[in-house]
Amino acid sequence: MIHSVYSNKDTFLRELISNASDALDKLKLAAFQDKDLVADTADLHIELAVDSDKRVLTVRDNGIGMSRAEVIDLIGTLAKSGTADLRRKLTEAKSDAAAEELIGQFGIGFYSTFMVADKVVLTTRKAGEGEGTRWEAAAGSSTYSIDTVADAPQGTSVTLELKAPDEDDHLFDYTQEWKLREIVRKYSDFIAWPIRMQVERTVTEGEGEEKVEKTIVEDQVLNSQKALWTRPRAEVTDEEYKEFYHHVSHAWDSPLEIIPLKAEGTFEYQALLFIPSTAPFDLFTREHKRGVQLYVRRVFIMDNCEELMPEYLRFVKGVVDAQDLSLNVSREILQQDRQIQMIRKRLVKKVLSTVKDLQGAEDQTKYQTFWSQFGRVLKEGLLSDTDNRETLLTVSSFASTASDSELTTLAQYVDRMKDGQDAIYYMTGESRAQVENSPHLEAFKAKGLEVLVLTDPVDEMWVGSVPEFDGKKFQSIAKGEVDLETEDEKKETEALREQQDKDFADLLTWLGKTLDEVAKEVRLTNRLTTSPACLVGDVYDFTPMLERMYRASGQ
Ligand code: ADP
Ligand code: MG
Repeated sequence: MIHSVYSNKDTFLRELISNASDALDKLKLAAFQDKDLVADTADLHIELAVDSDKRVLTVRDNGIGMSRAEVIDLIGTLAKSGTADLRRKLTEAKSDAAAEELIGQFGIGFYSTFMVADKVVLTTRKAGEGEGTRWEAAAGSSTYSIDTVADAPQGTSVTLELKAPDEDDHLFDYTQEWKLREIVRKYSDFIAWPIRMQVERTVTEGEGEEKVEKTIVEDQVLNSQKALWTRPRAEVTDEEYKEFYHHVSHAWDSPLEIIPLKAEGTFEYQALLFIPSTAPFDLFTREHKRGVQLYVRRVFIMDNCEELMPEYLRFVKGVVDAQDLSLNVSREILQQDRQIQMIRKRLVKKVLSTVKDLQGAEDQTKYQTFWSQFGRVLKEGLLSDTDNRETLLTVSSFASTASDSELTTLAQYVDRMKDGQDAIYYMTGESRAQVENSPHLEAFKAKGLEVLVLTDPVDEMWVGSVPEFDGKKFQSIAKGEVDLETEDEKKETEALREQQDKDFADLLTWLGKTLDEVAKEVRLTNRLTTSPACLVGDVYDFTPMLERMYRASGQ
């Protein structure tokens, strides 16, 4: 990997500390829940140790540790994200930025160590188990070795054989005390566990003539350990929030919005939520984990607490710290808990109002980012969250025939509706091009009527079940008879139609007979301007796209 001034290499330490902190959280909880667990929880901490001569840095924790199988599964194979050769790719990456992108993309923080190390050795013993495991891999090689070790202490230590520094690279010398201090302060200050390092300090002893200077070695705690969500917003910098976001979300982007909230009274809790700026690659896969972290009075209880966030807000990350829950809460209890339901309700409202604020802001950049990243997910809520349907419809944007590039809100659509138009017209399809080419659209185009172009699979689902927006119902232009005429026009066409029905009676009868197997009815239409014919569904039929979806799923 080419060295550069890009300082994001520093983040390897943040990742190791973040993992160590998770491991300590897990141990504390496990020991609490399982009184028979043989684990030492007396002095839970994280430790940094440096050997400058050998250029070795060790990050150690006395947390939950990993079994051999876990090491292979979590660290060894990368099976969970299906990229057996990430390590090789990392070594080939042209820059740290490229490497970081790879790591972020696959969500494998541990592998960021290969940005700075030639060799990484992980030694671990799971709390309660007798034997430990040693895992070792060299940068650039696509294999690793794994051994059983008899005498590993509980927890995990990760030892990095640091790359030789370039001459101009003293800023990235991770054997330097000041450097490690700087990184911890910058990235990991809020970590709840003490991060210790042995440092040398000069002290003066004695008075006057007797005065002597001595160098002593002592343990120092490098982080302030203050839970970020307990601090007032005004006192926390965006940088600090960002690093906390990295820690809780295991993501590498910046938060788009930071949402601190606090409730006092019957149910006391504090929360700190984040809307990311980039959708994770697995947002639409089964592997994607939903939910925020749950704490009870500063004690970590669980990751991915699904009870606190609905499926359609699965991209929201953060922490909820509840005052009055038992430390013993289980998932089963949470599902029934009224307090949790209240909290969830409020979090949802708060996230949606934040999105609404983004939408209402003068500068639309953030809203546009949000919508492009998460709009598809948010629209799932139109189906599932009837309580917030109005808000969801309000904050949604759609492509429409009014503009090739710009999206429209429903309110804007309604503003542009023609006199006498009483429905919001839409057409679903697989792509804009497909919708644009549809004969169904012709009459609407000719009349200058705007049609929403709905091309996300989820559109098909909600649009059929959401009755209306602002008193206007949603009307598919591919279904039934769409009335496009004014009263006067109607009289005119009625006369014309009667005449035409007579003129074409023979043709229609013949077509009806010939197409008996496939068409319910053949009729004249005033919908088309350039195409000779088109297929329409009954009002109660599926739209063409839904029909295809069902057919594709074998129904
Ligand atoms: P992430 O933290 O996003 O899950 P990582 O690559 O940082 O991804 O770590 C992968 C997994 O390895 C962690 O989820 C955790 O289960 C395990 N792990 C990593 N470091 C430690 C550690 N110090 N103690 C216990 N388990 C760890
Ligand atoms: Mg991690």
